[in-house]
Amino acid sequence: MSKGTLVIVQLYPKNMNIYGDWGNTLTLKRRIEWHGYDAKLVAYNPGDTFPEEVDIIVGGGGQDSGQAAIGDDLRSVGPELIRLADDNVPMLMICGLYQLFGHFFKTREGVIIKGIGLLDIETVGGDERMIGNIITSSDEFGDIVGYENHSGKTTLGPLAQPLGTVRKGAGNNGQDALEGARYKNVIGTYLHGSLLPKNPAVADWLIEKAACRRFGSFSPSVIDDRFASEARRIAINRPR
Ligand code: GLN
Repeated sequence: MSKGTLVIVQLYPKNMNIYGDWGNTLTLKRRIEWHGYDAKLVAYNPGDTFPEEVDIIVGGGGQDSGQAAIGDDLRSVGPELIRLADDNVPMLMICGLYQLFGHFFKTREGVIIKGIGLLDIETVGGDERMIGNIITSSDEFGDIVGYENHSGKTTLGPLAQPLGTVRKGAGNNGQDALEGARYKNVIGTYLHGSLLPKNPAVADWLIEKAACRRFGSFSPSVIDDRFASEARRIAINRPR
């Protein structure tokens, strides 16, 4: 018997979904089912009505053009996303949507795409792309492994906590050794790859937060993560 249903909302899958980001949604769905719950996937694209039932929100990266295309719509649902974040809804935003969960992304050409200010971060596009395998070390999750490809350099304001520090790679800006940002149960990060198949601790953290919020508790099942562990081992040993 199902332990209950969790609704995963993926933001802008048509415009914001590169370098395997769809794998995050698939991993959440599969792990929710392995834990004995049902998972319902909902895609949110520009112009859609924002779903009423929401347990986890995921969003991926995109080209500057994709970010510009969804900007107006994202800002229109920004207050709802902030309300949900304040209500402890877990969210995972990768790269392009991570940037737009902040105050703004200024492209290399000087175009400012305003964000929703849910995260206290600012991003400015640079001349050099930061590309390659990356490891973020986090107290809560240990090593988080992934792949980054961005020109935007992100700096954290005083209200944002980093996700972790960079052990290999550039991270937020290639300078301060910080990677990602957190606010309540919201994680923003530059790690594509996909992130969640190789980092089950992050996936289960999102699911646990969602289950506790919806049902008052989380009763996980034991999952055989030997393939995830092997994928992590190989990814960690890859050169930059
Ligand atoms: N266009 C943004 C940048 O280059 C985001 C890229 C991405 O999402 N991979 O910084």
